[in-house]
Amino acid sequence: MKQYISNIYSALATVFIGMKITFKHLFVPAVTIQYPDVRVTLPGRVRNRLYVNMDDCIGCDQCARACPVDCISIETVKSVPGEDLGKTSNGKKKALWVTKFDIDIAKCCYCQLCVFPCPTECIYMTDVYEFSEFERENLVYSYITLTKDEVLEKKANFEKFEAEKAAQKAAPKPPAPEKPAPPQA
Ligand code: SF4
Ligand code: SF4
Repeated sequence: MKQYISNIYSALATVFIGMKITFKHLFVPAVTIQYPDVRVTLPGRVRNRLYVNMDDCIGCDQCARACPVDCISIETVKSVPGEDLGKTSNGKKKALWVTKFDIDIAKCCYCQLCVFPCPTECIYMTDVYEFSEFERENLVYSYITLTKDEVLEKKANFEKFEAEKAAQKAAPKPPAPEKPAPPQA
C-alpha cells in the first residue's frame, strides 16, 4: 500500500514539474515567427546569394581563382583596336569582353573568398536567401550582359584580328633601300 501511494505521488509530482515548465513558457515572448508571412531582419554582414555587377567586371578571373570549390567559371575575349569598352566606376580601363560568367550557387559554400580579391568590388554577397529550385541546373547563374550573337561576334572579331596580324608577319618584307655609294676621293 505504501508503495502504491508513493507511485501516485511520484506521478503527480512529475506532471506538476512538466506543467510548471509549460506554464512558465506561456508568459515569455515567442521565438518562432510565422514565416513566410513574417521574416526576420538579417544582420548587415549576412552572406547569402552572390551578385555580380557586370558593368564593373574587368574579367580578371581573380574571384574564380580564389574560390575553393571552383564554382565560378569565366571566359573572356580580348578587345580589338577600335573597340572602346569604357571604364569601371573606380576608373579601371576595361580591355576584355566577358563572354561567360557563371556561378554554380549549388556548389557555393558562402565563404566569401571570391569577394575580397576583386579589384573593382563588383562581386558581393546579398541578403537574398530564398532561391530554391526543383532543377539543379537552374542554380547555375549566368551574369553576362552580352547576347549569344554578341559573344560570337566578339570571338569572330578577335580571330579575324589575330589572323590579319599573323598574315602581316608572314608577308615577305620589301627589300631594304640600297645605300648610296660613298663619294670618290
Ligand atoms: S562564396 Fe566561396 S564558394 Fe561561393 S563562389 Fe565565392 S569563393 Fe566560391
Ligand atoms: S574579380 Fe571582380 S573584376 Fe575580376 S573577374 Fe571577378 S568579378 Fe570580375
